[in-house]
Amino acid sequence: MLEFDLIRRYFTRAAPGTLLGIGDDAALLRVSTGMELAVSTDMLVSGTHFLPDADPFLLGHKTLAVNLSDLAAMGAQPRWATLALSLPQADEPWLHKFSEGFFALAEQHGVELIGGDTTRGSLNLCVTIMGEVPEGMALRRSGAQAGDDIWVSGKLGDAALALAHLQGRVKLSSADIAPCVPALHQPVPRVDLGLALRGVAHSVIDISDGLLADLGHILECSKVGAEILFDTLPVSETLSTLSRAVAPSPPACGKGAGGDDSGSLIWRCMLAGGDDYELCFTAPVAHRGTVEDISRRMNLPLTRIGAIVADSGCIVRAGDGSVINIGVSGYDHFR
Ligand code: ADP
Ligand code: MG
Repeated sequence: MLEFDLIRRYFTRAAPGTLLGIGDDAALLRVSTGMELAVSTDMLVSGTHFLPDADPFLLGHKTLAVNLSDLAAMGAQPRWATLALSLPQADEPWLHKFSEGFFALAEQHGVELIGGDTTRGSLNLCVTIMGEVPEGMALRRSGAQAGDDIWVSGKLGDAALALAHLQGRVKLSSADIAPCVPALHQPVPRVDLGLALRGVAHSVIDISDGLLADLGHILECSKVGAEILFDTLPVSETLSTLSRAVAPSPPACGKGAGGDDSGSLIWRCMLAGGDDYELCFTAPVAHRGTVEDISRRMNLPLTRIGAIVADSGCIVRAGDGSVINIGVSGYDHFR
């Protein structure tokens, strides 16, 4: 199949919110009056971000979901996307399912695919997403203030646990792992939450590289520190049962939680596991009630996990007040 047939058949859909969409040398967009354009790019590479035999429908979903998650973290309303594809071959059943997964999520969020690029090469999926946010209202990493509550949406660690299971680094029954697997393959971008946090949160980031690494970016950009209470971290039944079974209490500072035993794997899933795509945000104590209202309205757990402090650094405390040292931070491609 020819390149242009492929684009026409699988990636060209109506784009009524676009002046000029797919088919010319560039798309033309009109940004709404009073809005700023938020732009972000995220690339998924076979073998690094997904396994080569990944289900194409779920991969289409995830390719867009990880990008939507970045806009959510800015408090932006998603509008447009471009898609750059490098494909080993024009595998039509694969392309069909991939595009179905991509557009199913795009339609949910009113995102129009307005262009891209298609080449032959090793499997590589790259989206640039564009959204709108009222002037001056974007949620940044740099606004955290000492005294802010630290919140996270949803649950932490299931995606990392599912990956560890698939890679054989931990062995779990299918009943235990089944509820964790959707977090890895079908993350839900918290777009509505990001919109609701405009004017409420002081700072926001999406958790793609693990809680400590991503919260670390907020701390660095805001020039503050944090104290996290380990026992408050929101986890699934599976992770909470596992953490109670393998380790009655997490290791104190210096006891080598960075090792490879299953206990440290569990704690690392929670604190440093990648691929959560939840939002971590800080908000003043005065907005606690507002955040709880948002949580109820969205039927989405929002959990207070600690506080921003003036001194730099991030401390994680166990229930007895001792400091936990997990020994690793988040995922870094060049570490
Ligand atoms: P050019 O050679 O001028 O860069 P292309 O031949 O790469 O243009 O693309 C033709 C049209 O198809 C352009 O509008 C481009 O944005 C769009 N396009 C190419 N690949 C994709 C894709 N994977 N998804 C959506 N649109 C695409
Ligand atoms: Mg091109």
